[in-house]
Amino acid sequence: MGGTSLNLKMICVGAHPDDECFAFGGALALAAERGIETYVICLTDGQAAKHRGDTDSGEALGAVRRAEFEASCKVLGVTHHEMLDFQDGQLAFIDFSSAAGQLVERIRRFRPNVVITFGVDGGPNTHPDHMMVSMLTSAAFHWSGRAKRYPELAPVFQPQRLFHATAHFFLPERQAPLPVPWTVKLDVSSVQARKALAFRQHPSQGPLIESTRELFEQYGGEECYALMAAEGIQPMRLTADMFEGLDGLGERGV
Ligand SMILES: [Zn+2]
Repeated sequence: MGGTSLNLKMICVGAHPDDECFAFGGALALAAERGIETYVICLTDGQAAKHRGDTDSGEALGAVRRAEFEASCKVLGVTHHEMLDFQDGQLAFIDFSSAAGQLVERIRRFRPNVVITFGVDGGPNTHPDHMMVSMLTSAAFHWSGRAKRYPELAPVFQPQRLFHATAHFFLPERQAPLPVPWTVKLDVSSVQARKALAFRQHPSQGPLIESTRELFEQYGGEECYALMAAEGIQPMRLTADMFEGLDGLGERGV
């Protein structure tokens, strides 16, 4: 593995700095190891976080978390990363169409095979921002391929697969979400240490990292995703690879 000869690309969309590692870190690091080009988009700079490090203003925390996000993406081997300027905690109140348009434009320019984001359940902590990222990204996935949507943006492009991250464990002492059943169970044990190291690039979230450390040690060797959209008509089936059959990978591509 390794190298960049696969010519495969993946976009990952999250809401907050640290989503890229705790939710998607295994998939991103695995893709990097396989030479798959990755682009992480984070919609906010995380100013509304409960844990605020030693900062004394939202702006200061946002700046700290922006740098943490960059360091985490570097550890994960992410090819491109970008932070948009939406307000943390406020995604349920933004203009849906214009926000989705920002994602459509990026999907059309980057031309990924695969798009990943949170599930509509909002992830392990059922955060409303995660729910909104899920819905915005899912709409953008489909609208990117529709000529009637945002004709003024970059040329129409339809990615091949949309996946939502989903749960294979729950956070204790929290009301459990109702996750979508997975169709992909990724073995990310080979990059589990990198995922943990990426999480530690977010020292402002130190108490969160500490309180979830045992959980991620126990469950962090796997990440589960649900295939939410794909080309063609097919029954749901379980796989271990989001890129199976694309560009020569796996059984259908051989
Ligand atoms: Zn988050």
